[in-house]
Order: sequence, then structure tokens, then C-alpha cells
Amino acid sequence: MTSYAQTVCPSAPQLADLVPYDPKYLPADAFLSANENPRDVDEELRRQIMRALREVDFNRYPDPLANNLRDMIAEANGVSRDQVLVGNGGDELLFDIALAWGGPGRKFLNMPPTFSVYENNAQLTNTEVVSVVRDENYDIDEEAVLARVAEGDIDYAIVTSPNNPTGRLADEQFILKLLESTNALVVVDEAYFEFSRKTIRPYLERFENLLILRTFSKAFSLAGVRVGYVLGAPSVIREFIKVRQPYSVDAVSQAIAQVIYENRAQFEPGISAIIAERSRVFDELRRIAKVVPYPSDANYILFSVPQAQRVWQALYDRGILIRDLSGARHLEDCLRVTIGTEEQNNAFLDALRVVLADLAREQLQN
Ligand code: PMP
Repeated sequence: MTSYAQTVCPSAPQLADLVPYDPKYLPADAFLSANENPRDVDEELRRQIMRALREVDFNRYPDPLANNLRDMIAEANGVSRDQVLVGNGGDELLFDIALAWGGPGRKFLNMPPTFSVYENNAQLTNTEVVSVVRDENYDIDEEAVLARVAEGDIDYAIVTSPNNPTGRLADEQFILKLLESTNALVVVDEAYFEFSRKTIRPYLERFENLLILRTFSKAFSLAGVRVGYVLGAPSVIREFIKVRQPYSVDAVSQAIAQVIYENRAQFEPGISAIIAERSRVFDELRRIAKVVPYPSDANYILFSVPQAQRVWQALYDRGILIRDLSGARHLEDCLRVTIGTEEQNNAFLDALRVVLADLAREQLQN
């Protein structure tokens, strides 16, 4: 043990029982755990990216607001530059939401089980979390949410559509009712919207309290580069600009994201393939005894299975990494598999059948 000449005083009290976000990324043959795109950026696009990177001045700070990329995103979405903000992945923007709309004495309405980062951000910023738990099918308890916001004390709510990790879209009529019934900032997290092909964007002009979050990490194969964005009212974007890190989106990421966004039509066939595979994997999972998959509008499927933790480990021992959620609240017995290539999906399904047959045999012997 080091004997320090001076020790350090305790960190901020809200960190005491905070568990850091851990994606549990381990080496594997098939990575089906982090909802990434199984197809990497292709060779021709990579060459284009390399050419763009040659023009980057490494000694200069990047454009703080990534205005070129911002303009491209604005144009594609039929909005103006001041309605767009680019961030260091959606994750940075989620933290900015807690900084700008949360804080001591303020309240965040959460609909668990959902993306755990929301609750961590609230805790970090001393924001009170008000939870309205989803029903047994993991659909939002719409009446309970509307009743809770009617109390008038919620500062922001996040509706994840499609929801991670459970998979389903939120109902559009419900989102509209929520937007009408509260002046809280209603964030619709559309990180996976390219796989559902549904967006709440047409309502941006009608609701100042609507903010949409999107990412380049999923459909656009760019999880390693860290680019996300929000669309919202200029008045809301202005508040985000006050709390964000000035140079959070580096020049390299900006250059790469611009090439990808210009060529985004090229990702369409890959997205369609994932949607088709999602439906096939769902049907196959339904045919496996004791496995209950939940319908999904995203690029992953949540399923419950007895002895989930052992099943996860046995799959991992066979080189297949999926996400074990069985230790999380409201997700007992649940695992989540990302839709990969046809080959990866088959490797997962074959391994799952073998693992479950082994476990069944073991039970008969006992
Ligand atoms: N929202 C949801 C629902 C997510 O699942 C993720 C990624 N896991 C994000 C936002 C953030 O993604 P990124 O930081 O890679 O843009």
C-alpha cells in the first residue's frame, strides 16, 4: 500500500452509491451486445474519409458548434441551423439535458426499465428521479405518466422510442398528449429510429418543449467515432450551448461524420437487412422452448429465459457476446441480443439451442 503524505477529501456526496455505466465489453467472436451496426464503413467511403482527414488542421481547435455538419443535418430534417446541436455521441447530449434542465430541486420523469444512463446523469446532477415503471409487456404506463406530469412539478422527461433495452416504439398519440399536457422538456430519444422508420420530427414546429435525440452510432456504423445530435426549438438549443463542453466534437469526428452523412443513402440496404433479420431472429426465438422474446422496432431483441445468467455465460464461452440484463431492476431473467449479420445471428441461435438443451439435460439428471 502506498503511504500518501496527504490523503484526499471525499468526492461529491452524490457519487457515493453511483455505479458507473459499464457496457461489459469483452473479447468475443460475435459482438452482439452493444447494438452496433455489424457492417463497418466500406472501403470506398473509408478512402473518402481519409481524403477529408488530410485537410484537417490538427494544430487548430475545431469549429465549436460543428456548423458544416449542423447545416447538413438541419437541411435533411427541414429545420434551421439554430434547431440543431451536435454532441460527442448522444451520451454527451444526454448529460447536457441533465445539466440544463435538471439540478438540485428539479425533477426528471423516467420510465424504467430504460437506458440506465438517464438515471446516472440525474444522480450526478442532484436531480430527483420520479419513476413510472412500464407494464408487464414493457409498454409505457401512459395513464400513470400523464397523471404524474399533471402534478406540475416535472422539469424534464425522456421517452425512448424505440426503448432500449425492451425494443418497442412509444405510441405517437401518447407522446403528443404528453407534450400538450406539460411544459416540461420532453426528450424523445430516437437513437434507434432508423430501424423503426418512425419519428416525432414533424411536430418540432408545434412544441417548444419537444427535443429529439439521435446518433450516428447505430444505423451509420459510427459508434467508434462519437457523434450524436439533438433537434429542438432555438430557445432550447441556446440553453444547451451554455452547458456543453466548447470543443466536445473534435475536428476528426466532424470530418468523418460529414462524409458519412453525405453518403447516408448507402446505409439503407444494411438497415433493411437488419430489419429483415430482426423479424427472422424473433420468429426463431419464439420457437425455442422457455425463451420469450419481446417484439422490437430496433436493432436488438430482449428475451427472457430461465437461468439467464448461466445462459449468458455459456453463450460467451462459445464466443457469443450478448448483453446480460438479468441483474437489472425489472429485467429479471432478461438478455438482449443485437441483430448482427445473418451468419452471426445463426451462430447465436445455434449456440442458444445447444446451451438450453445442455441445461435441460442437466436438470433431468438432478
Ligand atoms: N440513447 C439510447 C437509447 C442508447 O441506447 C444509446 C447508446 N447505447 C444512446 C442514446 C447514446 O449513444 P451514443 O452515445 O453512442 O450516441
